[in-house]
Amino acid sequence: MSSKKRVLITGGAGFLGSHLCDRYLSEGYEVICMDNLITGDADNIAHLIGNDDFSFIDHDVTNYIHVSGDLDLILHFASPASPIDYLEMPIQTLKVGSLGTHKALGLAKAKGARFLLASTSEVYGDPQVHPQQENYWGNVNPIGDRGVYDEAKRFAEAMAMAYHRYHGVETRIVRIFNTYGSRMRIHDGRALPTFMRQALNGNPLTVYGDGSQTRSFTYVDDLVEGIWRLSQSDYTDPVNIGNPQEVTILDFAKEIIELTGSNSTITFEELPKDDPQVRQPDISRAREVLDWEPTFNRKEGLSKTLDYFKKKVLDQ
Ligand code: NAD
Ligand code: UDP
Repeated sequence: MSSKKRVLITGGAGFLGSHLCDRYLSEGYEVICMDNLITGDADNIAHLIGNDDFSFIDHDVTNYIHVSGDLDLILHFASPASPIDYLEMPIQTLKVGSLGTHKALGLAKAKGARFLLASTSEVYGDPQVHPQQENYWGNVNPIGDRGVYDEAKRFAEAMAMAYHRYHGVETRIVRIFNTYGSRMRIHDGRALPTFMRQALNGNPLTVYGDGSQTRSFTYVDDLVEGIWRLSQSDYTDPVNIGNPQEVTILDFAKEIIELTGSNSTITFEELPKDDPQVRQPDISRAREVLDWEPTFNRKEGLSKTLDYFKKKVLDQ
């Protein structure tokens, strides 16, 4: 058996998971990608098939997970992540955050592997503290439409901490803020792919509400660097990884029109229920414990992503 470190990446055929497969392979790991492809895409990992250090297991992680051999690390990224996806699959979302996290933690305990949970800024809900620090407990509507995702992630964090405290599993929790880049699905309903598709097709951009709600968008390479550092660190408490550069959704739509050189207009549609009004990470902790901060501003990150979306729009 090879002496390489081995990592299991659940949700590895998704947007973020597939970028993590690339990164951990380039760091010399053997990568096992596990996914049931409900929101992922085999194309995201097609370039890795045939690599001796890469394998793919088609499996729903809400069921018992079997992996043969040793494991050093589990990156638990399986979960629908776009609001459209988790509203269409509310029970799957609750199950993968609860049962799936339980199974992945059980595997980490059995293998003596380190476990890193993909949590989210959604644990802060519609925040009453701004920007959001990790010690803020959040403002989530447990029975709202978004609650299936937010509460599943909050439960997953609680479960990770329980395995850490009770079983001594080495756990890491990353709270990911809105991230973008290549391999996003253009019909996933998130603001960026939707606006790119609409702008590149010359259609009106659909801004929900009056567009005064804010988000802070992170380029995928920055996020992957933060996750890499966290996975190598000794830090157990949650860490925000996100770009503090905040923008209103209306200005964001205008930026994408400008970037694409489109003639598109903007239309206003009803704001989804419980849509957070503001969101901006406080990244003091990431700076301090990981020496991490984003290196791409939005303009640079969006330009790097444009060719990908152009190709996707042509292919559709
Ligand atoms: P994605 O939908 O592209 O990837 C999720 C992957 O998980 C998909 O490949 C999907 O098929 C797989 N999956 C879902 N349920 C599964 C199950 N039961 N068994 C096996 N595989 C399953 O989404 P993404 O944007 O790459 O998000 C990945 C992770 O990061 C998610 O856990 C998400 O909550 C978290 N996250 C993402 C963002 C973001 O901005 N992209 C922000 C916060 C948190
Ligand atoms: N949004 C929008 N038009 C769209 C898609 C999304 O105005 O076509 C808004 C959405 O209501 C939210 C913001 O953009 O206020 C970010 O939405 P996204 O789904 O990308 O992420 P999340 O709400 O999970 O942060």
